[in-house]
Amino acid sequence: MAEHHKEGQRKRRANLAGHPEWMEYPRTRPRALKAGADYFFSGRMCKNRHYNLRKVLGSRCVECESEAQDISPTLASFMRDWLSEV
Ligand SMILES: [Zn+2]
Repeated sequence: MAEHHKEGQRKRRANLAGHPEWMEYPRTRPRALKAGADYFFSGRMCKNRHYNLRKVLGSRCVECESEAQDISPTLASFMRDWLSEV
């Protein structure tokens, strides 16, 4: 029952993000590992408030990952947020 509720939430998030195909990914990291998938979709927000796929390696959200690699004006604000968390 609880499982169905979680799946409903997850489906809604995927649809809201415009990526209903995210439902095809495992919901949890252990399941993704078992299935041999590179990504999973928990339907939960990451610490930077993204709804996105997460990488099994490092369990970081895909959007955080691309922001971290992208050298752009947003890097300054990213660093500021990061420092203020410490
Ligand atoms: Zn993120």
